[in-house]
Amino acid sequence: MVAPGFIDVHTHVLMRRGIFEHPTADNYVRQGVTTVIEGPDGRSPVPIAPVLRQLAMLPKSVNIGTFIGQGSVRAAVMGRVDRPASPEELDKMRALVERGMRDGAFGLSSGLMYVPGTFTPLTELVELAKVAGRLGGHYQSHIRSQSDHVVEAVREAIAVGEQGGLPTQVTHHVTAGRPNWGKSVETLRLIEQARGRGVDATIDQYPYDASGGGIQTGFFPTWVLEGGRNAELKRLKDGAQRAKIKNEVARIIRLRGGQDYLARIVISRCPWDEQLAGKTLADIARLRGKSAGPEDGAEAVLWIAEEGDCEKVLRNNMSEADIERILRHPATMIASDGEIPAGLGDPSASPTHPRSYGTFPRVLGVYVRERKLITLEEAVRKMSSLPAQRLGLRDRGSIRTGMKADLVVFDPARVRDKATYDNSHQYAEGIPLVIVNGEVVFENNAMTPARPGRVVYGPAKQ
Ligand SMILES: [Zn+2]
Repeated sequence: MVAPGFIDVHTHVLMRRGIFEHPTADNYVRQGVTTVIEGPDGRSPVPIAPVLRQLAMLPKSVNIGTFIGQGSVRAAVMGRVDRPASPEELDKMRALVERGMRDGAFGLSSGLMYVPGTFTPLTELVELAKVAGRLGGHYQSHIRSQSDHVVEAVREAIAVGEQGGLPTQVTHHVTAGRPNWGKSVETLRLIEQARGRGVDATIDQYPYDASGGGIQTGFFPTWVLEGGRNAELKRLKDGAQRAKIKNEVARIIRLRGGQDYLARIVISRCPWDEQLAGKTLADIARLRGKSAGPEDGAEAVLWIAEEGDCEKVLRNNMSEADIERILRHPATMIASDGEIPAGLGDPSASPTHPRSYGTFPRVLGVYVRERKLITLEEAVRKMSSLPAQRLGLRDRGSIRTGMKADLVVFDPARVRDKATYDNSHQYAEGIPLVIVNGEVVFENNAMTPARPGRVVYGPAKQ
């Protein structure tokens, strides 16, 4: 099969200088991905122009573009405070979003579970989204809750699109945590209704039942993180506040299933103690305390937060029924939420979320070939023309005369992801050839010396 090169609208390839360390982005290319988009979750450089210039000069195998991040814009103007913006601050943020769009962003991203995005009221999001929309961009949101309040959070993402007058996208859509399994029925209904009234609402998704991210996210109430790292450390050192935080963390552990919950949280990367990689939070609680109960678990979380946080993979957090339901929806595209991991391709490196290696082949192998959940053509559309349309990339995402030759050749009978939770640094199989801008970047099971990747720019680039 020959398909348009896949376009991944949610990646973290700049994380820890990923693409600068590995400009071949092997884990993406070997999935058939030819274009990666950075700046999701409300986080981007502000301004974006300097890094786009560096990326333009970097010889690389893939195309790359970015969003302008609402959280980063807010941090630049207001710091990490929990209050609405003043009219003057709002004007400054509008100007930074406009600058980002004119520098080539594809739209405004938000990360409303993170500090400081979480402190942003809807009205402020709408005002900034209007700026991106006026310049042809769209809004992509890591919504305010992906678990207990996911339905309200999807409503809010739709409201930003509707009131801001621009296309809106729920990124890496999940309904996480057992009590929330099945809620995708309701969230998809909301998306349907919005589309019915003319709101251009779309979704992207990675095909795994585990989530990723930092340890603190999901455990700490946002007030703990207000003001940034030093303010957080001060709170953790203060006896009374520490006790309050520990209580809250223990309460969440109990609520989510206690010891069983801690055993499903696997440390992937821990820069300050590499020995922790591969251990579960239950292991660490036992090592540092007496048991893997909620109290010792909370103490372990606080310790990790003080030392500098670790990344985790939270297994068995989503249900297959929700994954399939979201995947079947015609407004859903595929995106990895992955990175170029430390120890790229090295099976002995610290474990990482397998989505960085397997997202696209997994859809083709498991959900198309094995389960016949969607057709091959529909899967390819979700990986190429649909994201191209969403980004406004008119010269990529389909195979036609005059388009850039981003192409992937795969064997539909063999294509599959190999990366697992226990053995994550495994390249995908069944993709023998990848072409970017007309040059072969991968064949004979190896990256070629070609570095044809370009920076791709959004609709308002000057
Ligand atoms: Zn995210």
